Amino acid sequence: MSSMTESSVVRRLEGQDCQWCTDGRLERGRYKGNVAVVCEDCDTPAAQLW
Ligand SMILES: [Zn+2]
Repeated sequence: MSSMTESSVVRRLEGQDCQWCTDGRLERGRYKGNVAVVCEDCDTPAAQLW
């Protein structure tokens, strides 16, 4: 069931504007080996799912 929670969180954040830079958008990725939503431009993770 945790996978459903993860995907819903990722889906909610995916495609939103980055809050840390002006041009970036958030996309699904990995950060330090964990599923995360990271900015495509500045690589700042918006969510990490442990
Ligand atoms: Zn950014």
